Amino acid sequence: MENKIDILKEVLQEKLEEKRSGTMAKNVEKPPTIRETENGKEKWCPKGKHYVPADLEHFYKDGRSKTGLSSWCRECQTEGSSKGSDKKTAKQDMVLTLDFSVYDLLFEDIKAEAVEEFRTPEMQAMWLISEALEAKFQKKVTEEKSVPKGA
Ligand SMILES: [Zn+2]
Repeated sequence: MENKIDILKEVLQEKLEEKRSGTMAKNVEKPPTIRETENGKEKWCPKGKHYVPADLEHFYKDGRSKTGLSSWCRECQTEGSSKGSDKKTAKQDMVLTLDFSVYDLLFEDIKAEAVEEFRTPEMQAMWLISEALEAKFQKKVTEEKSVPKGA
């Protein structure tokens, strides 16, 4: 049991440090999305952390973005999708981004619970979802059982 808590603490600590260094890096150097070079425009690829020529040869088309180009370069996007076994690279289509801006009390509760449980807020939210689904499933099973057969 203690071991489990230690591991969770470690994970939380790592996450915190990641977050801290992430925000610090953002404050220090925020690379411009597009930069002009002798060879033309180049676009920043946040995945590979490099500049790539800003054209359709190097980026996929993305009508939703300001530049009309995908945020990751073709090379990085292909690399990301082929590395399915890489646990650190979350599958883009399996990531939910939750906006708590109108659920600020819920957000505070989750954060507070996460601290108590030595989890990250993300881990806590995931845990709550699985608990809620499990409870719902159990309730359904109980209800089905309590219905007299042949009635
Ligand atoms: Zn790239």
